[in-house]
Amino acid sequence: MNKPIATSLRTKEILERFHLYARKSLGQNFITDPSVVRRIAESSRCQGQAVIEIGPGIGALTEQLALLAKKVVAFEIDDRLPEVLAWSLQEYSNVEIRHQDFLKADLPEVVADLKQEAEQVVLCANLPYYITTPLLFKIFESEAEISVITVMMQKEVGDRMAARVSTKDYNALSVLVQYGYEVKTIMKVPRTVFNPKPNVDSSVVQFVKRKQKPAVLDEQLFFEIVKACFKQRRKTIYNNLREYLPNQQEVQRILQEAGIDPTERAENLELETFIRLSEVWYERKSVC
Ligand code: SAM
Repeated sequence: MNKPIATSLRTKEILERFHLYARKSLGQNFITDPSVVRRIAESSRCQGQAVIEIGPGIGALTEQLALLAKKVVAFEIDDRLPEVLAWSLQEYSNVEIRHQDFLKADLPEVVADLKQEAEQVVLCANLPYYITTPLLFKIFESEAEISVITVMMQKEVGDRMAARVSTKDYNALSVLVQYGYEVKTIMKVPRTVFNPKPNVDSSVVQFVKRKQKPAVLDEQLFFEIVKACFKQRRKTIYNNLREYLPNQQEVQRILQEAGIDPTERAENLELETFIRLSEVWYERKSVC
């Protein structure tokens, strides 16, 4: 059996064999540390299940997923790579490479098909950093039945998504993501394990879909209110909300009814408090 694709030596061999260079415009940074890809695959909960990968590159993570999962479906946008992957992953019959932009994939359909083959469908990827947020929101908003999402991203973005209340990284994104998922950082990954080396460090973040999302009467209103509360981080919640709803007295009444101190800042409010605020807001809206 060959050495893992993620070793520096094999990565170099594969790149040379196919005269490949990393395309910066596609966010290509290949992992060259077998222990890192192994740990990501092991933590993805893909064992015996179906796993979707975004951006297999030359197959470093795909290989480790293939060793554990029943089936791997990997979406790669770069037209040079299907040929490379067919060669580098030739030993693994449970891998299917789709040469497609993941943003254009019909995710619910892909998941429904995989559900015929496995009990659970999970997603695991070393994401291209230039489109981390659109890729993740495509997954979150699709409502596809993906139970666990384990992804490597720029550390700064990962810190915001996993941030807890009253910390410097806690913002609207943390609240909105944690409303649908339990979020935790699995590991930090230094920039030195990539070829080419990016300018930032990374972290692997895991999103476990909540069996039941907290009950919210009007989801759109909840999203808008969370964003409005964090509009200007240093401002009080009252001042931020006054811009969203110019009627000062109404804002004061709503905050009072929700039991929120108007001088508080959004960064100190728990998810449950934002939900309460949006419920009171919704009820007053239907009365007025
Ligand atoms: N998985 C490999 C690894 O860990 O070494 C490569 C990860 S590299 C950071 C990101 C990969 O995503 C690249 O192979 C790139 O071509 C691919 N990619 C970029 N945008 C994509 C998109 N919209 N859909 C699918 N793949 C994409």
